[in-house]
Amino acid sequence: MAGCLFCSAPLRQTFVDLGMSPLCESYLPAEALNQVERFYPLHAYVCERCFLVQVEQYVSPEAIFTEYAYFSSFSDSWLAHAKAYVDMIASRLGLSGTSRVIELGSNDGYLLQYFVAKGMPVLGVEPARNVAEAAVARGVPTHVAMFGRQTARELQAQGLQADLLIGNNVLAQVPDVNDFVAGMKLLLKPGGVLTMEFPHLMRLMQETSSTPSTTSTSPTFRSSRPSASSPRTGCVSLTSRSCARMAARYGSTRDMRRSRGRLRARTSRGSARVRRRRA
Ligand SMILES: [Zn+2]
Repeated sequence: MAGCLFCSAPLRQTFVDLGMSPLCESYLPAEALNQVERFYPLHAYVCERCFLVQVEQYVSPEAIFTEYAYFSSFSDSWLAHAKAYVDMIASRLGLSGTSRVIELGSNDGYLLQYFVAKGMPVLGVEPARNVAEAAVARGVPTHVAMFGRQTARELQAQGLQADLLIGNNVLAQVPDVNDFVAGMKLLLKPGGVLTMEFPHLMRLMQETSSTPSTTSTSPTFRSSRPSASSPRTGCVSLTSRSCARMAARYGSTRDMRRSRGRLRARTSRGSARVRRRRA
């Protein structure tokens, strides 16, 4: 077993072992129905040092994201949630036609389209080319890349930094959480705002553990977005404590205290938000 994806401590403590499972959202073509399908261990560990819950990485991110079957816009209720967020944050931050909005893991443009409608310059960063093409067709400029420090530096070199940087339901799926978060810091404009949204592990357990079963597996720990609990690329689930530690690593001491307070306050409602120090 490899070390923790965040702090590299050895992983020994099982969080839940759900046996073997095929990859989620990887649908078989008709000609593959009589062939062997690969199964992977759906065995989540919790790091005893930083409390990050995670599964080991078995499949390369490239293999998963080259052709991806999850299109966020397929869900009407998800679109309504995205639009409500855009209206709220644009008003709260006083965003204007000169405010650059960048979303990481922007999928098919389901969210950024509402900033476009407000006349704001946007950029999506999305690793799955087939999904990014749907975003571009919708009028959402999208850079196809697996985000991390290198992509952030390339965008920075083009003069692109975010007044508002968004990472919704993406951190749990990135192969290298430290490289991803370091990249966010580079891509955020001084004085800019970062908002993140992800399933909160404690609430996930509280709201889904009332009917535990020894025979049925995934329903017990299924989140609002099924991919969050499947063996994809070393998935993680964040707790308040792991969030706070991540903020501590990437912020200054002064930021850390402020960020921690904010994280604690927000994670109790299932999302986290970190505000960067004004330069
Ligand atoms: Zn750890």
